Amino acid sequence: MQVVHTGADWNKYWLESIKNDKSIGFVPTMGALHEGHMDLVRKAKAESEIVVVSIFVNPTQFNSLEDFNNYPSTIDEDLDKLKNEHVDFVFIPNADSIYIEKPKLSINFGDIETVLEGAFRPGHFNGVGIVVSKLFNIIKPHKAFFGQKDLQQTGIIRRLVKDLSMDVQLVIVPTRREEDGLAMSSRNVRLSPEEREHALILINSLAKAKQELLASKPWFEVQNQIKYDFEEMPSASLEYFELIHPESFASYPDFDASQKSSICVAAYLGKIRLIDNLPIIP
Ligand code: AMP
Repeated sequence: MQVVHTGADWNKYWLESIKNDKSIGFVPTMGALHEGHMDLVRKAKAESEIVVVSIFVNPTQFNSLEDFNNYPSTIDEDLDKLKNEHVDFVFIPNADSIYIEKPKLSINFGDIETVLEGAFRPGHFNGVGIVVSKLFNIIKPHKAFFGQKDLQQTGIIRRLVKDLSMDVQLVIVPTRREEDGLAMSSRNVRLSPEEREHALILINSLAKAKQELLASKPWFEVQNQIKYDFEEMPSASLEYFELIHPESFASYPDFDASQKSSICVAAYLGKIRLIDNLPIIP
């Protein structure tokens, strides 16, 4: 496994790979790797001849300096995990090499960034769009692998690839969960034992809402009950719990079994913000 730090370094290996007609799979991450990330890596290994994983905590996609400064970093463990999966290259740039200058370009994703994560994290998707574009331009992968856990992010990247005619195929990998159902996230290690237990309210609410919708309970009743459940849990603070179309991310006023739908949730447990989603009609 080769660790590379700059685009110029990677270019030498890239040229070699292309000359040998090898397909390149790319998994962008912010490190603090868990089994959810490793599912993406395994999928990339299965579908590509050369796998590149990037580890870069992108400052421009954070809304809070505190969140950025406290983002977990476990680089030695990360490298061990990647080596065990026989990853070919790990790209670990420093922020100065990615942002030689502060970008003047900004990306407006239209309606999709005015809802859910877009509404609660202003500028977040601009930061994601710019860094993913930079990483795609540097790595030049044939395929790139993203998690369904960040459902709206997959929509943003699909838009980016389509609107800018990027020559990369996106592969979306299902959410990996802990045994009790909590979606794996690098931020979970920052939860206190009590918050960790209470964090189950996210997946439990999604599962309960799904069951009730499929049993024909009106959405506004389901949503109100869930909001009430969150209010009853003092360590949890709900930001949104919405029934949406999983590509446009527009909210549905009510459930319609003939339309694709997912429920998306974001909530704080103490100071830690977690998100999750569940497909209702895939
Ligand atoms: P991050 O390091 O949080 O930026 O995530 C890097 C990639 O891993 C993104 O495409 C995420 O959607 C994906 N990912 C994060 N958590 C999970 C999970 N629990 N299951 C599947 N993919 C995940």
